[in-house]
Amino acid sequence: MTETTKFFLAEERIPKFWYNIAADLPEPLPAGLHPGTHKPLTPDDLAPLFPMAVIAQEVSTEREIEIPAPVREIYRLWRPSPLVRARRLEKALDTPARIYFKNEGVSPAGSHKPNTAVAQAFYNKEEGVKRLTTETGAGQWGSSLAFAGSLFGLEVDVYMVKVSYFQKPYRRALMEAYGARCVPSPSTETESGRRALAENPDTTGSLGIAISEAVEMAARRDDTKYALGSVLNHVMTHQTVIGLEAIEQFAMAGDYPDVVIACAGGGSNFAGTAFPFIGRKLRGGEDIRAVAVEPKACPTLTRGRYAYDFGDTAGLTPLLKMMTLGSTFMPAGIHAGGLRYHGMAPQVSHLAHLGLIEPRAYHQKECFAAGVQFARTEGIIPAPESTHAVRGAIDEALKCKEEGVARTIFFNLSGHGHFDMQAYMDYFAGKLEDHEHDAEALKRSMLGLPSVVEA
Ligand SMILES: *Cc1c(COP(=O)(O)O)cnc(C)c1O
Repeated sequence: MTETTKFFLAEERIPKFWYNIAADLPEPLPAGLHPGTHKPLTPDDLAPLFPMAVIAQEVSTEREIEIPAPVREIYRLWRPSPLVRARRLEKALDTPARIYFKNEGVSPAGSHKPNTAVAQAFYNKEEGVKRLTTETGAGQWGSSLAFAGSLFGLEVDVYMVKVSYFQKPYRRALMEAYGARCVPSPSTETESGRRALAENPDTTGSLGIAISEAVEMAARRDDTKYALGSVLNHVMTHQTVIGLEAIEQFAMAGDYPDVVIACAGGGSNFAGTAFPFIGRKLRGGEDIRAVAVEPKACPTLTRGRYAYDFGDTAGLTPLLKMMTLGSTFMPAGIHAGGLRYHGMAPQVSHLAHLGLIEPRAYHQKECFAAGVQFARTEGIIPAPESTHAVRGAIDEALKCKEEGVARTIFFNLSGHGHFDMQAYMDYFAGKLEDHEHDAEALKRSMLGLPSVVEA
């Protein structure tokens, strides 16, 4: 086979459609509400922030949404991502289980996030947008959008939580290498930033403030829109390229998972991995268990409440019905920065509420232990977020051993940990602590939930 034929075949294996689970939900998703009027959101409410194509996807109930050819062409840089049988890990665990993982760490930015960043940049470019704004915590999303913007000639402004801006200089350098402008937040560029600085000149920033800054800048200019890396329906849909590829790859391997596992921060990685499998089950196909793993320090699915809440701390975003710890909940500073979000995607929350997914929470040390075992058997250093899925998979495999049954376990390795080696150094030095969530603080933040009269 020539190089060109192999290349051609790889491209053919990239799905032509994303999967939209809204088509298969047993009950429709509760509507998002305007933060001021509490009336159901209209496309006009979202138009200042998002391109029309994205807004249409946000409310679509079509099962299949075509992946535009230019997006597929960029996916080709790293997709299909490999589905790998973790034979050495199986052997080390002495388990009868078959463990497979999909490796999203092979993307240019090192995680699953470019799957939606590229799509969002494409739709914005199509509609004449010149500049995108966004926020980033640890820098995974900012660097993914910076990468996508560079491919479509869009300017990208990233408001990066100040403490991370100084603590994670390599992610910042990556954003700048892709041509983005990275601003420590709070900044003096926006009203919200100036207000935060006036209140507390020494503030280290928060994701909530950074979101407010990015949204404000996008609302202010006609040529500028805002991009969000998780939580919203269109992001879940874009990420389903992961699970759809996996279904094809399992068919090629002559196997099918009994359990699908992914870590959940805002929910897009879990959705992208599990929704295509859950959809088959909802349409009468193969049964699977879908396990969403989160940190015990930020236990949104396992300890949160299903209620309307804001996506940010300032209360500027629409109200979304979701599993939430309350928008003022401040999780402990664990290393899996991508999993420190108070809420959860409405679609993932809805499925949890209907009992269609299994939430599970772990402490960070047991996750790093799993990450190290994975590195020493399969060779890949998982991102701290991804170690949660590895822990989940290992525990499932050990259960198979105990019960003497050979189940097929599938997990998504959402990213590599090459920019997170400080976290591993802290783990090896015995400096990591396990944080139980602060129950009193949780009670207080729950009391702050907005009161919404549901129709
Ligand atoms: C951001 C991130 C996550 C969490 O993402 P969600 O899609 O919001 O749940 C998980 N793993 C990695 C590597 C990430 O960068």
